[in-house]
Amino acid sequence: MKPFTFHNPTRIHFGADQIARLRDEVPAGSKVLLVYGGGSIKRNGAYDQICAALSDCSVTEFAGIEPNPEFETLMKAVTLGREQQIDWIIAAGGGSVIDGGKFIAAAIALDPALDPWLIVGNKIKLERALPLGAVLTLPATGSESNQASVVTRRATQDKMSFKNPLVFPRFAVLDPSFSATLPARQIGNGVVDAFIHTTEQYLTWPAGALIQDRLAEGILQTLIEVGPTALAKPEDETARANVMWAANQALFGLVGLGQPQDWATHAIGHELTALYGMDHAQTLAVTLPPLLRATLADKQAKLAQYGRRVWNLQGDDASVAEQAIVATQDFFERMGVATRLDAYGVDPADAAQKVAEQLTRHGRDKLGEHGKLSPADCARIVAAA
Ligand code: NAP
Ligand code: FE
Repeated sequence: MKPFTFHNPTRIHFGADQIARLRDEVPAGSKVLLVYGGGSIKRNGAYDQICAALSDCSVTEFAGIEPNPEFETLMKAVTLGREQQIDWIIAAGGGSVIDGGKFIAAAIALDPALDPWLIVGNKIKLERALPLGAVLTLPATGSESNQASVVTRRATQDKMSFKNPLVFPRFAVLDPSFSATLPARQIGNGVVDAFIHTTEQYLTWPAGALIQDRLAEGILQTLIEVGPTALAKPEDETARANVMWAANQALFGLVGLGQPQDWATHAIGHELTALYGMDHAQTLAVTLPPLLRATLADKQAKLAQYGRRVWNLQGDDASVAEQAIVATQDFFERMGVATRLDAYGVDPADAAQKVAEQLTRHGRDKLGEHGKLSPADCARIVAAA
């Protein structure tokens, strides 16, 4: 295991009615910017409960943060926040709204002479950010308690991330009842995203982080166990609660400690979303199976461990590794997330060429846990997707 330092400062309030804790978390008299998306929070009860809990604060609203949040939209919230001299941000929704909240919190506090796009891609050192609280309605990204954010500049087809400890939410409310209104597509997407956050940190080699491995295997087995129930019976509270907690734990920071992390599936996936507008999880579901086959030389032993422990498969390493990839792909399909590019109307040959160009342009030219994947290797992966 490699040396590590771990600190996750986000206080988590999990379960029914925990949204009332907003009243303790946000000081009375605060000038709050409540940011949200297309209006789902008005249908699942979150909006009314947030307004009730913030009755001692002055609340300004900013609606309309889209999936794969766009820089141009977020900058409108930054302008509003500066005009209103906002001192707290509450982001209520899925990963897009929470990621957007992180950017807004950092950009409002930035020296107005600097270009806020520099935040994305970590091109400047942040000195401060406004305090942020998250109310989660879509279990998927783990954004509610991590330091990452992904922002898109549509005009230039740049979907880029930044990471900074200053944008860890101060607190996160995870009330599974808010996820009861999710459409099947988003339930499937969320389970697949959480699954692949786990594999990005776990299906790497060399191993040796035994606790982290067992944690990853527990998260993966839980998603396999409860994911299909959450899809078939959205009213099942146990399934909903366990999906929400599993998705949180997948990217809370513990799974990847002290071991090499991959993240090539996400890097390729971000380019596919930027190019073709596919949902985040859809891009991951098409990329992971061919990526695992392309990196078998490094990953076979870990894939065999995964196949035996998570899928109860038997045989020699080569056979278990291949069966595990097939089982994984089949699981994504069962979650309603198609695993071939043509299912999304995308031509693999076209995508292969364009993804390689984008990866080169974005300097993502040494991907994977050992930096071995070049844009040309990624093109072959996408061509097989
Ligand atoms: P999302 O883009 O936040 O939301 C997708 C859709 O689900 C939206 O239309 C949203 O509608 C709707 N929705 C949310 N909650 C709902 C509910 N309870 N009932 C009904 N509809 C609901 O999806 P996401 O998968 O959570 O986030 C994806 C984004 O996160 C991508 O940009 C991805 O790159 C990023 N990401 C970030 C991290 C990280 O660590 N920060 C990790 C992985 C991915 P409304 O707009 O109306 O709310
Ligand atoms: Fe993700």
